[in-house]
Amino acid sequence: MDIDQTKIPQATAKRLPLYYRFLEGLQASGKHRVSSSELSEAVKVDSATIRRDFSYFGALGKKGYGYNVNYLLSFFRKTLDQDELTKVTLVGVGNLGTAFLNYNFSKSNNTRIEMAFDVDDSKVGKEIGDVPIYHLNDFKEMITESNVEVVILTVPSHVAQSIADDLVEAGIKGILNFTPARLSVPDDVRVHHIDLSVELQSLIYFLKHYPL
Ligand code: ATP
Repeated sequence: MDIDQTKIPQATAKRLPLYYRFLEGLQASGKHRVSSSELSEAVKVDSATIRRDFSYFGALGKKGYGYNVNYLLSFFRKTLDQDELTKVTLVGVGNLGTAFLNYNFSKSNNTRIEMAFDVDDSKVGKEIGDVPIYHLNDFKEMITESNVEVVILTVPSHVAQSIADDLVEAGIKGILNFTPARLSVPDDVRVHHIDLSVELQSLIYFLKHYPL
């Protein structure tokens, strides 16, 4: 089935990786079908939303059968470009950056950090988790050569904006920003911001004020 991906709402698109990861686990354990309530329980999205999400790509589900896991996975692979390896680079090999290099999305077969950059001479030239670390001065040249468009940014917040400017100038199209800084970028560049301390504080606030 050919699906016009521009018609999938952004909120739905954001949930796809969540569904994908769970379904992959199901497939690995030999399961061929799943009900929306089972999915709902696992990914913590209500089943009406799941049904609506899935209806955008023609997976309607059958009463008493549920959804076909293989069909869903093949759709997600196409939509999320899971068949295509997306090369990612990381800037800022501090504590958080180092953790990412060691982790390196080993459970995903489509994203991999290929190289990392820092300005600290004691880190440049080394490897962490098989990922080579280069000097930030070489960034533009290196990423042009290797066609990288996505950067994970784990630098101190006071240098984040100026580094982001350089990344954009070098042709980067997506930044996963782990610094507390709010970045200004041109309209054709996408920034997703993950501030771990804000996320944690928000969880604690909700636990306190909106107990389940
Ligand atoms: P983290 O914030 O990940 O816990 P940390 O506390 O170990 O890290 P930070 O001071 O936040 O260290 O710096 C993170 C990394 O960013 C360090 O490796 C540092 O060398 C690097 N860094 C600092 N300034 C720049 C810069 N201008 N360009 C690239 N990397 C930089």
